[in-house]
Amino acid sequence: MLCKARHAGVNSQSALCALIMRPEVEIYDTTLRDGSQGEGINFSVADKIRIAERLDAFGVHYIEGGWPGSNPKDIEFFAQAKRKRFKNAKLAAFGSTRRKGVRAAQDEQVQLLIDAATPVVTIYGKTSMLHVKEVLRTTPAENLAMIADTVRFLKSHGKFVIYDAEHAFDGFKLDEKYALATWKAAEEAGADLIALCDTNGGSLPAEVGRITHVARTNLNVQLGIHTHDDIGLGVANALAALEVGASHVQGTINGYGERTGNCNLTSVIPNVAFKMKKRCVPQGSLAQLKELSQFVDEIANLRHSPRQPWVGSAAFSHKGGTHVNAVQKLVSSYEHIDPASVGNTRTVLISDLAGRSNIVMKAQELGIKLSNDTPELKTILNRIKQLEHKGYEFEAAEGSLAVLIRKELYHQPLPFKVQGYHVSMRNEGRNSVCEATIKVKVNGKEAHTVADGDGPVNALDSALRTALAEFYPQVKKIKLTDYKVRILDSGTGTAAKTRVLIQSSDGKQEWGTVGVDDNIIEASLQALVDSMEYKLMMIRGFEEKERKR
Ligand SMILES: [Zn+2]
Repeated sequence: MLCKARHAGVNSQSALCALIMRPEVEIYDTTLRDGSQGEGINFSVADKIRIAERLDAFGVHYIEGGWPGSNPKDIEFFAQAKRKRFKNAKLAAFGSTRRKGVRAAQDEQVQLLIDAATPVVTIYGKTSMLHVKEVLRTTPAENLAMIADTVRFLKSHGKFVIYDAEHAFDGFKLDEKYALATWKAAEEAGADLIALCDTNGGSLPAEVGRITHVARTNLNVQLGIHTHDDIGLGVANALAALEVGASHVQGTINGYGERTGNCNLTSVIPNVAFKMKKRCVPQGSLAQLKELSQFVDEIANLRHSPRQPWVGSAAFSHKGGTHVNAVQKLVSSYEHIDPASVGNTRTVLISDLAGRSNIVMKAQELGIKLSNDTPELKTILNRIKQLEHKGYEFEAAEGSLAVLIRKELYHQPLPFKVQGYHVSMRNEGRNSVCEATIKVKVNGKEAHTVADGDGPVNALDSALRTALAEFYPQVKKIKLTDYKVRILDSGTGTAAKTRVLIQSSDGKQEWGTVGVDDNIIEASLQALVDSMEYKLMMIRGFEEKERKR
């Protein structure tokens, strides 16, 4: 970025540039420590390194790598991280103040924080008198000494020390004077930053704002905020503290964390940047936010939540016909921001609520020319409604939708026709083997193939692909990447219908197709046929375009 600095009392232009570019809100990521305590989250050391590298590239300011005193995996992480060079983020090791009655230098857990060899050390200590008396079972004075000694010891080792004030808000509500005394103890011992923690996640934004304001007026040190989402206010509480003088926020990607999770950085970051209009992560990184969120879910082996604010696939999707109509005319009518600003996209859902506008927008997304005036539009709309009534769902099956629209629109001959099929299963000792035979017709010629498979659908898929490959070698590249079965109206028992959704890929593009029938094999075959037809129609469409040139 160009920085037209004049003198303004600063020695060099670059110093002023650095000052101007300094973030107004620092992001402290604890996905690898607090986040990894979430249910169903289990990172290997290699996973943690990959996530740390990605967070660094994205531009967070601090990465808390773990608690070396709590497990050997975290010690190993720091040993490996030591050899890495991070360009944006500073690495932090997390731990606690010394135990009661020992010197900081003699406390093993504190020693491990030094051994982690990170530039930043974050320690937590008690704010709440209740915890001092009932949990630590020590005197108020010894707790203050534990805080001060540990901070001083870490400072003497050249660390940037962040003091995490555990139960800061609950403790303050219980005994204001003592809470302030604990924070002052950290400040006077030389802590570089004090993060106020809503450890139990039960505070309200107004309380967090009021107490942070008191801390701001009584302390000189930089203030941070660390919140949890137990009552759904993790992000709101963090923003409340930022409004009144905190300039550092701790949280996790996708809100991972114990119980209902930590403050979700995937929401905090865009809220700070776009809504509070404060400098935070590098400007160019914001459009990579969705990718970062998906990446971390991928490593954690979790499905990316479609309903996540800002980055979920549903965050900018429109279903109701009137909304779609309005968005088509004026995008800001039902969107709070341009989805691309966080790397997300606008999607139009096709459903029984679908109006003409949905279909038109979806068709355009799929590269099919269709407008509100196309005469076939009414027939297409009716066909979709009929099928949805039978249990089809096109929201995740854009391949089937494209096939349907093109069939109605272009009346082209189908690339192939399935004449018949047969699936059987036999048992050979311990293994059961499925065999499928299929007969397809292409331009008057027939192919008849047979294939084995792990299951009936797998066998059918191989047989169909082998038959088609004789005419269209391109289908050899297609692979089935996902297969989902849903039983519809299961209340009716044996008469229940089955909906099959499959996801296919040719290595470059992915598409979903759907089939519905009383019989799971038949439903699967429909989805498989749609998948092949979609690919072949795409190839044909491309060839037509080429010919016209
Ligand atoms: Zn926490």
